Amino acid sequence: EMKAIATPKRTKDILEKYGFAFKKSLGQNFLIDVNILENIVDHAGVTKGTGAIEIGPGIGALTEQLAKKADKVLAFEIDQRLLPILQDTLEPYPNIRIIHQDILKANVHEVIEEYFEEGQPIHVVANLPYYITTPILMNLLMENLPIDSITVMIQKEVADRMAATPNNKSYGSLSIAVQYYTEAEVVMDVPKTVFMPQPNVGSAVLRLSMRKEPPVKVDNEPFYFDVVRACFGQRRKTIMNNLSRHFKDRFDKETIREGLQKADIDEKRRGESLDMEDFARLANVFYAML
Ligand code: SAM
Repeated sequence: EMKAIATPKRTKDILEKYGFAFKKSLGQNFLIDVNILENIVDHAGVTKGTGAIEIGPGIGALTEQLAKKADKVLAFEIDQRLLPILQDTLEPYPNIRIIHQDILKANVHEVIEEYFEEGQPIHVVANLPYYITTPILMNLLMENLPIDSITVMIQKEVADRMAATPNNKSYGSLSIAVQYYTEAEVVMDVPKTVFMPQPNVGSAVLRLSMRKEPPVKVDNEPFYFDVVRACFGQRRKTIMNNLSRHFKDRFDKETIREGLQKADIDEKRRGESLDMEDFARLANVFYAML
């Protein structure tokens, strides 16, 4: 039996055989630790009866581990040079389909409908290219896809921001943007040594479990997120200050003060102390005054 693709030895052999040179601009840091990969697959909840979607299979290190557990695996890879390699390395697994496409341009809805069984639980699992982590994740979240969870290796600092709760230094508008759609949890920190080449930043695995419904009732979503961003505008300033500045063309200071009172939020508080509920009350009050 062949060694796993993710073993350092086999990875080196594959790269050599194809004369593959990493492209930094595509965030190519491949995983060379089978243990970590098995852990990721377990955390993701990928088992028999489920489908998996991967973004950026590289030479197939994670794809192979997914194919061993999932019924079917769908993987989007942007780098043309990896296609013949993947065809070779993943040859033993008939339950994988590789799509040569930029994930930011793909019609994921359509591909899911075409490839997976109806009602099959689907988990997104990836060691993401770090240069576009946030756009990839926000796209997946806002597209209203029929997926159950997203488990991704990303830059540690970004994982912390996405999973942060009020009154923590990482808490901000990104935390709310992600947690409006999901329950977020950092499930493990990962050392640089499990990558080839090693990245310059620390990494962590973030697990996002999709919510069936938003956690708060918001009358207008774009306006809600606008209010959230406004409140975090200048972190050292009070929400009174941040909101007055942001809405200076629409509300005068007195109106803002009234709105804060109506929402029962002390004007001297800072954005970092407000939770999703507080922001929802605040946004709904101001939306009604527009
Ligand atoms: N999954 C492999 C692993 O863990 O070893 C590779 C992970 S590597 C961090 C990121 C992968 O995403 C690379 O294969 C890269 O070519 C691919 N990639 C980068 N940008 C992409 C995009 N916009 N759409 C799809 N794949 C992309």
